[in-house]
Amino acid sequence: MIAEVIVDIAHSDVDKIFDYLCDETVAAGTRVTVPFGRSAATGFVMRVKEKSDVPPERLRRILRSDPFPALNEECLFLADKLVARYRCPRALVLRLFLPAEMRTGKVGEASRTFARLTDAPFELPPRARQQLALVEFLRDNGSADTAFLRERFGGALRALTDKGIVLLEKRRVFRDPYRGVEGERQERTLTAAQAEAVRAIEESDKTVTLLHGVTGSGKTEVYLNLIAKQLERGKTAIFLVPEISLTPQMLAQLRARFGKSAAILHSGLSAGERFDEWRRLREGSARIAVGARSAVFAPVGDVGLIVIDEEHDGSYASESAPRYNTFDIALLRAKYNRCKLVLGSATPAVETYRRAAEGEFGLVRLPERINRRPMPEVTIVDMRREVKRGNPSAFSALLREKLSLCLSQGNQAILFLNRRGYSQTVLCRDCGYVAKCEHCDVSLTYHSEENCLKCHYCGSKYRMPPACPECGGVHLGYVGTGTQRVVGELKKLFPAARILRMDNDTTGGKEGHYKILRQFAEREADLLVGTQMVAKGHDFPSVTLVGILDADMSLHFPDYRSGERTFQLVTQVAGRSGRAQAHGEVVLQTYDPENYILRFAAQYDYEGFYRHEIAMRAGTAFPPFATIVRVMVVGEDERDAIEVLRAVYGKLEAVYARMSDHFLFFNKMHAPIKRIQNKYRYQILMRITDSAPLAAIYAACDGERTKSTVVYVEENPSNLS
Ligand code: ADP
Ligand code: ZN
Repeated sequence: MIAEVIVDIAHSDVDKIFDYLCDETVAAGTRVTVPFGRSAATGFVMRVKEKSDVPPERLRRILRSDPFPALNEECLFLADKLVARYRCPRALVLRLFLPAEMRTGKVGEASRTFARLTDAPFELPPRARQQLALVEFLRDNGSADTAFLRERFGGALRALTDKGIVLLEKRRVFRDPYRGVEGERQERTLTAAQAEAVRAIEESDKTVTLLHGVTGSGKTEVYLNLIAKQLERGKTAIFLVPEISLTPQMLAQLRARFGKSAAILHSGLSAGERFDEWRRLREGSARIAVGARSAVFAPVGDVGLIVIDEEHDGSYASESAPRYNTFDIALLRAKYNRCKLVLGSATPAVETYRRAAEGEFGLVRLPERINRRPMPEVTIVDMRREVKRGNPSAFSALLREKLSLCLSQGNQAILFLNRRGYSQTVLCRDCGYVAKCEHCDVSLTYHSEENCLKCHYCGSKYRMPPACPECGGVHLGYVGTGTQRVVGELKKLFPAARILRMDNDTTGGKEGHYKILRQFAEREADLLVGTQMVAKGHDFPSVTLVGILDADMSLHFPDYRSGERTFQLVTQVAGRSGRAQAHGEVVLQTYDPENYILRFAAQYDYEGFYRHEIAMRAGTAFPPFATIVRVMVVGEDERDAIEVLRAVYGKLEAVYARMSDHFLFFNKMHAPIKRIQNKYRYQILMRITDSAPLAAIYAACDGERTKSTVVYVEENPSNLS
């Protein structure tokens, strides 16, 4: 037989497909190792055929193949679609379907050696006490891990093995990433509203349903119920969440409810853990794939349901090639499997809501919190007045008062700072000099704990200058409020309070954030201070107060989505308050108290916000009434990058000339951040009325990269920096 193999070569942007000889057993989708030039390479079998056009003497044989196809038929179908849609090499697309570790061959199955008794008759002298004890132990326990036996019975294991009394065998074991996470199984009866939502979703004739439920309305329970129903029908499910590693409650709940049927894939897992979770899904021993964006590629078959929780979250857009949108992939899979796709959010993306409002998606609402608990009351505080009154602190008088009341009642509070406003920059008050990174075109952030300056784009550290490097002045000050400064102020205001801080700097990875959230959940602290991360889906019953310190910091960004983002953030953070019995409150501090976005958010008026926003987008022809397309040209060598830019621009100009009816805007320029990590960044920005020019735009960029410059296309990029 002949296999068409696509060879996965790093740094190659052309697909290389070659014919190899193979056995009957090799099927399409199997990962193989093949001789390639003078070395070997891994690849995937795309097709198996009878004959090859390559002369037989030049055909080489596959060296090794996985015992099972890593990619099923659905994966191959999705890969085709992705290649066509994003115009990127198939080898790159196929990588999405495997845990990265597997591709590089750095991990494999884990195994341990177990010992058991053989059937051979034997006699042991009574003085071989350890050996007798070991035999006794194995009689009682069947088999046991040799590491354990060696520790407990010393050399007896070796002695018995040598005599043939004990047999050693390797067995595959699965690494369990969540050994420590135990949740109580809470068998809840759905409320009438939840039951109705489940029914409406199941019976809908639409593939996609938007579940629009306020924060605390019990959306999770609806998803879990829908998932359980699919499992009963023998199907599988994919459950996507923005940051599973940050939501211990969600993990515990899934664990308690589905046990090992759920495989949880996320960035915090070790290589081995991720590989094992993936294998469990591929083999069908786990039937629910839970995870962030990349879990949309989970190797499950016969999918009965796909859920995208917090569908508005920016993390669902991939920021590396291929720049796919999770929703698009989920929709392809839903159609392939003829199953339902549920999008859930308290603050749906404007684009999503429009599709629901227009009837393309089903729309199911949960307008009230569980058990009719009231939404927390939001008070808007005008910070300009605080400044006038001579209060320079990050806390208004009202927030201080409410905090002290909250603490005195033994409750917890969350204080939220907008990430975009939280950086503390060093500024020379004499000449206006701002400390900037040498490798990136951004200002540096002051970190008081280490007394240094850091670049948040590349991580470079700088010493704090004693005087201004520009004018020599010594009046260097800080602008902006940082989480550290807020914590400092809080310590002075409430010396007895136990405070936790969570932002990008407080330790990375699964452990750090997870630990902080667990500590807070277990009431080891009273106050949690943080940036965006504290806004995400957490359910802390004792939190009765949320303080939003700088609500408008994200309003003034030159991005058409900044209003929407602010509305989402404020609603989500506010939603952390008063989720259990106690009544919740929110203090929203702003320098722009009349702002309509904040007003709608304070009233929990999504509809009002939506109507306002959609009218504005229609009037200005921004998404969803147009598509923003950005072509990025990024390269270390400025001249090379400019040359590539010129070439791409020339080709795009031709597209523009040919299809100008479809264009609202077309221009080339520096990207807002001109340089990141020493790479120069140029962009060609376009706004198009419909998808007609897309294929031509992708084609214009295809193959334009050089050794030092990359070119890529982004559609409605979530980050325009
Ligand atoms: P959402 O995701 O909509 O913000 P959650 O799913 O976190 O809301 O649910 C909010 C709270 O209500 C959680 O504490 C959850 O345990 C609780 N809850 C959900 N469904 C029920 C139910 N049927 N009965 C009692 N409590 C429920
Ligand atoms: Zn930098």
